[in-house]
Amino acid sequence: MTRLMDTIGKSVRERCKNANLTLMEDEIRKCILRVFAKTGNPPTVKEIIEIVTAPSEDVVNQAIRKLRMADILTTQVGVITSAYPFSAAKTRHRVFFADGHSVHALCATDALGMHFMLGEDITIKSVCPECEHEITIVLKEGRIASRDPESVIEYVKARESCGCTADTCCPNINFFCGRGHLEQWKAGNPADNSGEVYSLEEALEDGRMIFAEFLK
Ligand SMILES: [Zn+2]
Repeated sequence: MTRLMDTIGKSVRERCKNANLTLMEDEIRKCILRVFAKTGNPPTVKEIIEIVTAPSEDVVNQAIRKLRMADILTTQVGVITSAYPFSAAKTRHRVFFADGHSVHALCATDALGMHFMLGEDITIKSVCPECEHEITIVLKEGRIASRDPESVIEYVKARESCGCTADTCCPNINFFCGRGHLEQWKAGNPADNSGEVYSLEEALEDGRMIFAEFLK
């Protein structure tokens, strides 16, 4: 049986390949990710032009449209609202960097993946959907340096059709304090109780698999 996260990871990685981006379009994609990582927010079209020395506003807008069609980012009235693994809007998963600044991740796996995509030590602060208590995970040099609570797990909801867009799939990948809180949550959410549970170590490997090459 194929693991749910293998299917999701494959679809995320193939999205970039299948988009057939030109060199400039790929530069624009990376520029958006780097600014998101540094500031927690996407760059404006003007900022992108300056950073990648794009020939015109049209070229940048067209690239953004293409990236949206390929489901690599989302927009709202022309403004970028998310680009895997980042969200401009507040989410359940916040990622802190060594210099103190923070960004929001679209889902639990995206938060873990940032560690590999950016090659920086991070602290993830997430919230258990059942008890709303804070979960803290520290990642250093490719490994889990600490976790609180110790019993933290990742739960991925099974969707009938996982389009895996920022709107449909990502809210379904969360950290829970442990098995007990997941079971309680499933009892209260019977429509969503056929997902898969992963240990934090497994979830970390999924993050590496999906995001390690994202900015290369
Ligand atoms: Zn909990």
